[in-house]
Amino acid sequence: MSTRAQFPIAERFRPFGTTIFAEMTALAQRHRAVNLSQGFPDFDGPDLGKQAAIEAVRSGQNQYAPLPGTPVLREAIAGWASRVSGINCEPDREVTVTSGCTEAIAATMLGLLNAGDEVVVFEPYYDSYRACLAMADAKPRFVTMRRTAGGFGYDSEELREAFNERTRAVLINTPHNPTGAVFSESQLKEIAELCIAHDAIAISDEVYERLVYAGNEHRSIATLPGMHERSVVLSSSGKSFSLTGWKIGWAIAPPDLTAGIRSAHQFLTFAVATPLQHGVAALLRDGEQEIHSLVNHYAHTRSLLGEALLELGFDLTLPQGSYFILADHTRVTEKLGLSTDVDLCRWLPEHAGVAAIPPSAFYSSPEEGSRLVRFAYCKKTETIDEAINRLRAALGHA
Ligand code: GLN
Repeated sequence: MSTRAQFPIAERFRPFGTTIFAEMTALAQRHRAVNLSQGFPDFDGPDLGKQAAIEAVRSGQNQYAPLPGTPVLREAIAGWASRVSGINCEPDREVTVTSGCTEAIAATMLGLLNAGDEVVVFEPYYDSYRACLAMADAKPRFVTMRRTAGGFGYDSEELREAFNERTRAVLINTPHNPTGAVFSESQLKEIAELCIAHDAIAISDEVYERLVYAGNEHRSIATLPGMHERSVVLSSSGKSFSLTGWKIGWAIAPPDLTAGIRSAHQFLTFAVATPLQHGVAALLRDGEQEIHSLVNHYAHTRSLLGEALLELGFDLTLPQGSYFILADHTRVTEKLGLSTDVDLCRWLPEHAGVAAIPPSAFYSSPEEGSRLVRFAYCKKTETIDEAINRLRAALGHA
């Protein structure tokens, strides 16, 4: 038998380890914990989409889709973007279907950025942003969102200072994972003005675009004056239709930016699952009622979990959008004799039977997130009830 030296992970990925989502879901399974860590629904997506996908499989839609996506889905995405956000785009030249929004993020960065380009990134950030920037050899400049009276916000001065002559893009996510913040029109205008002043583009991850609660409104930066031509809007069907496992996402961008995105997409995945694209097309066209019920349900689980966490000593503001609650755990961990978010998230599955995400993984300086913990409430009411009962039993008298 031949022996060989240990083959190390490529240097570009070494700083990132295993994604926290896989790690926490595995820990939840090990302890049979209620999994409020990784954000995925524990209920099924709508029949309408499943029937359309099954029909596509049965009728022989089983070969490669065209590289940019099936025409029927690209049409449906253009219709949806116009209805939902007021974005008007040409399906042929401005829409690309990807393997979830995660591939859209990768294709955008790899297809449009060069080594040394700077990208302004709000933190806490979805972990793949940073890894994709590393793959593109681009340099992130972080702007930290911190707790304010009404939720989470950033400092305008810090934002202005992050832009310079090397800035090529700003990466935003609204509604925001993990804070639940919905960027206001005035914040988006401020970001847009900086993009225009520095001739940068906006890459806007809007996967939670439909998960917005009463009193808040989603707005896409692409609809602000002068921004259509300098925006890449990314979204997917995973969150709006509870189909995270289908991995059907998309990028909407003007033709020159779309050319960059497609040049990377063709070598990443080439094209994504044909029948599932037919399923998503049906949902984007006719799934409004499904979304309405889903948002009502999440409004309910958001209050249930939020109120229970408050009562248990967590400090939080209910999220404006998304399906995450980001809470300050200081009072709880002090009582338990623990300290950081990582301590708490390792303790919870074993001792309370509930799993959550330690958000320090989403900051360039982990201490920024060490007092916080993220819970996902994209679950059945009974799952949230069970998690609350378990948390009360473990923490109620801590
Ligand atoms: N977007 C989801 C979350 O934030 C899941 C991401 C993942 O598992 N890669 O929890």
